[in-house]
Amino acid sequence: MSDHPSLYDRFERAFMPNYGVPPVALARGEGTRVWDVDGNAYLDFVGGIAVSSLGHAHPALVEAVSRQVATLAHTSNLFLHEPEVLLAERLLGLLGTPGRVFFANSGTEANEAAYKLALKYGRREGRSYFVAAENGFHGRTIGALSLTGKQSIRDQFGPFPVDVRFVPYGDADALKEAVTGDCIAVFLEPTQGEAGVVPPPDGYLAAAREICDATGALLVADEIQSAIGRTGHWFAHQADGFVPDILTLAKGLGGGLPIGACIGFGAAGTLFAKGDHGSTFGGNPISCAAALAVLDHVDLDHVKRVARRLRAGLEAVDHPLLKGVRGRGLWLATVLTEPVSGRVQEAAARAGFLVNALQPDAVRLAPPLVVTDEEIDALVSAFPAILTEASR
Ligand SMILES: *Cc1c(COP(=O)(O)O)cnc(C)c1O
Repeated sequence: MSDHPSLYDRFERAFMPNYGVPPVALARGEGTRVWDVDGNAYLDFVGGIAVSSLGHAHPALVEAVSRQVATLAHTSNLFLHEPEVLLAERLLGLLGTPGRVFFANSGTEANEAAYKLALKYGRREGRSYFVAAENGFHGRTIGALSLTGKQSIRDQFGPFPVDVRFVPYGDADALKEAVTGDCIAVFLEPTQGEAGVVPPPDGYLAAAREICDATGALLVADEIQSAIGRTGHWFAHQADGFVPDILTLAKGLGGGLPIGACIGFGAAGTLFAKGDHGSTFGGNPISCAAALAVLDHVDLDHVKRVARRLRAGLEAVDHPLLKGVRGRGLWLATVLTEPVSGRVQEAAARAGFLVNALQPDAVRLAPPLVVTDEEIDALVSAFPAILTEASR
């Protein structure tokens, strides 16, 4: 860090202050390992926020993207191309439920598409409001932000054009009370990511499905963080035993290339008419080629196996600062007894591990899905000393 103070200074001067100055300037990566601009190595247990599914510089991703950029980088939506058709068919095949796909560039755009689909449904049916969860995160553009249940990032940009009612996540009775025949749609994460990797109680999502079926509200599953193998399943909802009306994807899908998807099942797949929505870059050939490489190379059995190892290893750590471990698959939060996650993140970086201070008392681990046993063991054995250093 010290050899390049100017890069941090230059960042601070050139960028808007919305991110602050990030603590580490990364230069390159290979697998789960990354190097900063001074040549220090780290094991990456953040994975670009659950994005780098295949790790860094995976040969298959490099090959797919290089080949595609040298063949055809962009068409716009005025022309179609084979990679987008292959990818849409592939996703529908993995989902196993008939549906239709729209490609965007990011998570928030995938949710904007879902929001607009739902609005069309709502107008047609004369319905008037949305329901979403407290502490839920759906993105930063105005539509997705209006559904985001974190006041500190939402309220200063309101009021919003649509009535959104928030309910405590995981409380099926509260959901039942909030969702009436006037509700357009319910937006839920199958596990809340940004809130601290918080899984719902058993049966909550099945109850949400029943409540939506009974009232005619659409159920939108925001799987932007939870899908593409992160939980050991292609899609988290597959393990939860329900099918949403609308599904949104992004983060891990492109393995680092920007792509989002909004998938409507059954009648929700054909709500948009020609001209209702669009994106110039969405589903561009390069991002689709990257996503196809990701889907070819994510190994769910590997994810399940290493996820069990990571969880068991962390659960066996006995330390006064560690309260517990929650989450699913390779998507965990270590929960602290004190609000010092920032210090855990710093101590981890000094020890050669990138982790994410997600909430004051929760540290997120979302390593590449190709993380090895040895890399997991390295983190687990370093963890007690990291916690001790953070407690000082
Ligand atoms: C990250 C995230 C988003 C927003 O995605 P962006 O690509 O940052 O716009 C939306 N929903 C969930 C659940 C997310 O984790």
